[in-house]
Amino acid sequence: MLKIASHPIYCHPLPENHRFPMLKYELLPGQLIHEGTCKKDNFFEPERMINEAPILAVHTPDYFYDLLNITLDQRAARKIGFPLSEVLVEREITIANGTIKASEFALKYGIAMNIAGGTHHAYTNRGEAFCMLNDQAIGSRYLQKNKLAEKILIVDLDVHQGNGTAEIFKDDASVFTFSVHGKHNYPFKKEESDLDIALENNVGDQEYLSILYKTLPLLIKQQQPDFIYYLCGVDVIATDKLGKLGLSIAGCKARDQFVLEICKVNNIPVMCSMGGGYSPDIKTIIDAHANTFRLAQDLFF
Ligand SMILES: [Zn+2]
Repeated sequence: MLKIASHPIYCHPLPENHRFPMLKYELLPGQLIHEGTCKKDNFFEPERMINEAPILAVHTPDYFYDLLNITLDQRAARKIGFPLSEVLVEREITIANGTIKASEFALKYGIAMNIAGGTHHAYTNRGEAFCMLNDQAIGSRYLQKNKLAEKILIVDLDVHQGNGTAEIFKDDASVFTFSVHGKHNYPFKKEESDLDIALENNVGDQEYLSILYKTLPLLIKQQQPDFIYYLCGVDVIATDKLGKLGLSIAGCKARDQFVLEICKVNNIPVMCSMGGGYSPDIKTIIDAHANTFRLAQDLFF
């Protein structure tokens, strides 16, 4: 069964200027149920308790406890971009718990998703760009520490480089970080992933997909991962307000299809975190994200 971490906690009031990017997390489950892609029992609500061990296997205690106690200095708090609050930190912990639980479900069912997550700008000792705890890094450490996976491949196809993820695993050969992103998109000073492909503005479906089709099978062959994390941000779409690439919704779906199929064919469990998507029309965002869930149902169940 397709298991999806949902986040009712998003309903908490947030400042007006943060409402729009949050709206999709509320609308997407409704859309998936409405159209028949998912039923209520596909969704699970992650625990809110603090799962310290996997968090502290990624983030420094100083940073984590400062975050927890809302005692980060002003400069560090400003880099995160949200006004910090207990609710917000609890939400971030819940997202990480969702990714951990979804990783276990992926081992059982082949695939599982988090309706949020993809907090790839969170570094070892700091947060950045609305990311505080790096959910897929925490999931990776959880799997490894519990001997559920050894070699992990992180496929980050969000339009923004996974700079935090690259930094966290820079000296760790057991987690291979692969990021395809807009060269001229945030972050402007990029970190070094194990493999980075930086694309020029307006790169469209054909060029994007041919790069992916060439690279990913080779990587899987070389690295032989026993688990894959997929960060499936839809901010690669041409209409995205933040992204500078030029994919169509169909191109974005073909991207997801390729990644999910290759996981399935190679029998490698895959956990998907949703990542970014900021097109001006909320319908475009929901449709593009819903495609990933539709594909997961079609291909795996
Ligand atoms: Zn993004």
